[in-house]
Amino acid sequence: KTIDYDQPVFVAGHAGLAGSAIARRLRGEGFRKVIGVRSAELELRDSDRTWEFMAAHRPQIVVLAAARVGGIAANNAHPADFLSDNLRIQVSVMDAARRLGVPRLLFLGSSCIYPKHAPQPIRESTLLTGPLEQTNEAYAVAKIAGITQVRAVRRQDGLAWISAMPTNLYGPGDNFHPEHSHVLPGLIRRFHEAAESGAASVTVWGSGAPRREFLHADDLAAACTTLLRHYDDDDPINVGTGSDLSIAELASLIAEVTGYRGEIVFDPSRPDGTPRKVLDVSRMTALGWRPTIGLVEGIAATYKWFLDNRETVR
Ligand code: GDP
Repeated sequence: KTIDYDQPVFVAGHAGLAGSAIARRLRGEGFRKVIGVRSAELELRDSDRTWEFMAAHRPQIVVLAAARVGGIAANNAHPADFLSDNLRIQVSVMDAARRLGVPRLLFLGSSCIYPKHAPQPIRESTLLTGPLEQTNEAYAVAKIAGITQVRAVRRQDGLAWISAMPTNLYGPGDNFHPEHSHVLPGLIRRFHEAAESGAASVTVWGSGAPRREFLHADDLAAACTTLLRHYDDDDPINVGTGSDLSIAELASLIAEVTGYRGEIVFDPSRPDGTPRKVLDVSRMTALGWRPTIGLVEGIAATYKWFLDNRETVR
């Protein structure tokens, strides 16, 4: 099937980590009308404004990469906001897309939608088979509602909408907030500042034992365009590397990249979250996609971006 590179593509969340990588990738693949809008100009939680915007632009493809996201501390501290904001964003964008009959929509979820004790690596079929991790339950339930909305629209309206579940993402443009970010950018900042000030120790939250999988946002973006071209199924599809490491190992890698040589101390008073989270990515690799950016290379590139944007980073 030939692709019309002049059809408008709306990337909701195009200024974020995932959305900006996806918009770049779509343009790189030849799409000439990739539309994004800053949240200052369009509040996606407002369904009337979202409808007006989308009705004016008439996208033929929507990538729903807009979300309120944060690390374990942010999720733990603001569950009501994570639930409400994400539900409202999803319903605004999907209701407008439905009203317009948008034929193709890709909704991005998260690997935290799976049960806390799901067998590892996590298969798509474990969705809704057990209790969720407490620290991000509100966020996960909002994302599960999004998956259900996609499936419901497929069934009721016959539109070829799909959902993808990326693992923990990182890369240029990430949020490096010391308290609210995810672990990888949070530790880049903390180790960098310790190396700079010559601190004797750096504190890493939790036991260091939890295992996580990390995917560079550019690899996710390539997966998204692969899915838009080739995937049309009711089931969400996992996007990850299929390999994980412990938080302690991650901390050592980041110490190396940032040139920090002091001690690494763990703070068990901070929550560990899910003990292990690594995705089974066999469905994604069966489509011919592979991650291409190794973790050390990816951390180094992200660290460079952080240094180059030191004055303006979030
Ligand atoms: P999660 O994958 O949803 O648990 O999200 P995070 O990326 O926030 O945390 C992953 C793991 O890293 C958890 O076990 C955290 O306790 C641990 N961790 C260690 N140090 C930090 C830190 O400075 N920031 C964050 N966000 N997590 C940290």
